[in-house]
Amino acid sequence: MELLHSGKVRDVYVDRGDLILVASDRVSIYDVVLPTPIPDKGKILTQLSLWWFEQLSDVAPNHVLSATDVPSDWVGRAVRCQRLNMVMVECIARGYLAGSGLKEYEKDRTVSGIALPEGLREASRLSEPIFTPTTKVAPGEGHDEFITYADVESQVGPDVAAELRRITLEVYRRGEEIARSRGIIIADTKIELGVHGGTLVIADELLTPDSSRFWSADEYRPGETPRYLDKQFLRDWSAAELTGWDRTPPGPEIPEQVVEATRSRYVEVYERLTGDRWR
Ligand code: ATP
Ligand code: MG
Repeated sequence: MELLHSGKVRDVYVDRGDLILVASDRVSIYDVVLPTPIPDKGKILTQLSLWWFEQLSDVAPNHVLSATDVPSDWVGRAVRCQRLNMVMVECIARGYLAGSGLKEYEKDRTVSGIALPEGLREASRLSEPIFTPTTKVAPGEGHDEFITYADVESQVGPDVAAELRRITLEVYRRGEEIARSRGIIIADTKIELGVHGGTLVIADELLTPDSSRFWSADEYRPGETPRYLDKQFLRDWSAAELTGWDRTPPGPEIPEQVVEATRSRYVEVYERLTGDRWR
């Protein structure tokens, strides 16, 4: 099979006109892939995305063609999907203030040009979820930057922009509600979309700990740093233990206990959301 693209986490192959998306156990922080894999991470991301695609199938079509018609070595971590013409915007929804959204708010009280009220703090819940798109930057070419809704309109046209926003917010609202009923707060999420036969289709992964901020709901306090169930754990470890790392490649090796603590968060998220045990 022809290798089309090797992303930070996924390898993308072309097969009979479809794509085979293979999620590896690689983990990246600050857009740098670390040399140590997190065992089972790729399978967990793939299985969790498939579960979400099914839960939210009425919001918009998704790219999945088959989870089983893939090379046998990759069963579990790979999906066969439609090859889409990707929209070059990262579609992000935020229901809580954190990460780059919080930083942007602290600068000028806006995120992606949306004005927010005074007095919000880390982890504050927004009165309603907001669509905060960013540019989609190729690896090694800098970091994604916030753009306004008007920027998206001029990039893809008003009709597609409106549909991107609708799908992104609807995925977030529905996903957040389901997750909250299972003890997890989804603070924000990023989705990627592409076009197939004139229709917008959800691609890549959906509502995973790699694409979203997941917090443990029972320990949630606005103004306090939440207990993260995603790779924020790795970012915190790198900030505390690796004060010398300038966040450029090569990334640091991850010690064994940190690998295990990270893996257990991915497993916990999978089990709490789906209600299934992770083998
Ligand atoms: P990120 O961490 O932002 O997701 P990445 O680009 O390195 O960065 P990966 O998930 O590792 O992402 O790689 C998957 C790649 O395949 C992405 O470039 C994504 O846009 C692309 N992709 C996913 N689904 C499809 C699809 N159905 N059709 C075409 N391209 C797709
Ligand atoms: Mg991706």
